[in-house]
Amino acid sequence: MIKQIIYVMSSTYSGSTILSAILGSSPNAYFVGEPALIFRRNASGRWRHQIFCTACKLDPADTECPIWGRPVIHAVRARPELYFDILNRRVPEGSTRLVDSSKNLRWIDSGLCHTVETCVLHITKPVEAFLASLVNREKARFNLGYCAQHWSDENLRIVDYCRARRIKYLHVDYNQFARNPDETLFDVENWSGSGPISRQAEWTDPPHYIKGNPGTATHFTSVEHTEELEGMNSELYRAGHRRIFLDEKWRTLINAGQVKALYNLRCVRAASDVFGYRCPDLNRSSELASASSLPLAVGATAYRLSRPHSRWKRRREFERLPNRATLSE
Ligand SMILES: [Zn+2]
Repeated sequence: MIKQIIYVMSSTYSGSTILSAILGSSPNAYFVGEPALIFRRNASGRWRHQIFCTACKLDPADTECPIWGRPVIHAVRARPELYFDILNRRVPEGSTRLVDSSKNLRWIDSGLCHTVETCVLHITKPVEAFLASLVNREKARFNLGYCAQHWSDENLRIVDYCRARRIKYLHVDYNQFARNPDETLFDVENWSGSGPISRQAEWTDPPHYIKGNPGTATHFTSVEHTEELEGMNSELYRAGHRRIFLDEKWRTLINAGQVKALYNLRCVRAASDVFGYRCPDLNRSSELASASSLPLAVGATAYRLSRPHSRWKRRREFERLPNRATLSE
């Protein structure tokens, strides 16, 4: 019976998938991935995703997923309020903890109930590392200033949300986790109070989880399809690295002037104070990109221009999430 759900929250590419997969490999836990995506619709109102389980997608055999097979997807879409009941019958026996990396506050809100303890584990990278992850995957669609504001807003919103609802909360810094995974996992173990957490970071049988960072899928020995991998670490991923990386891509992708400009933004300073980040030592300039070859500027004007559209788009997607807690209580 599921008694606790740990929502691993973060900005994109901040380590939530690998942290969740490790937490989910503990004896009484199960990593479900990003089930909020089951309920996501596109602009025309149709379901946005049809294929969910990463493990089954990677497996060449065309078998029905034991956790996220078509009957389960149909059942939870038809009766979102029965989500926990349906999942209780599918996850391995003895699973009392779910680890969910949906990264969606409305999804957490729709699942709040008295029978399942809600916990939020919040993993962040400093702003320059977050931006470098976007640049690395060519996902920085707006200028750096806008993306930095998004990083600040998004992460502070998670803290505010948990405070307002008195949800059990723990912050984890990605680089600290990468430097010393055992120490971070020890802290999480004490905080969650629901039994030991395994130290596993490599799997022979991947868990059946929904979507997530394709880089994490390379921790599974069975991985063959890695065509989704792009950017600086893709070669290591393909070589079966089985490591958690310290994220220092920003040293080659973002120049010193841009880093300084980022930390001059009030929003970045406010969020960095909360999460314990400071402007990094820029004297190691030999490692920094010498000149920006990227069409990215830190400026408030373009940020204001691009923000309303993006906000509107996000809100429209998330408003469609149904409430799933009512009948489970
Ligand atoms: Zn599967």
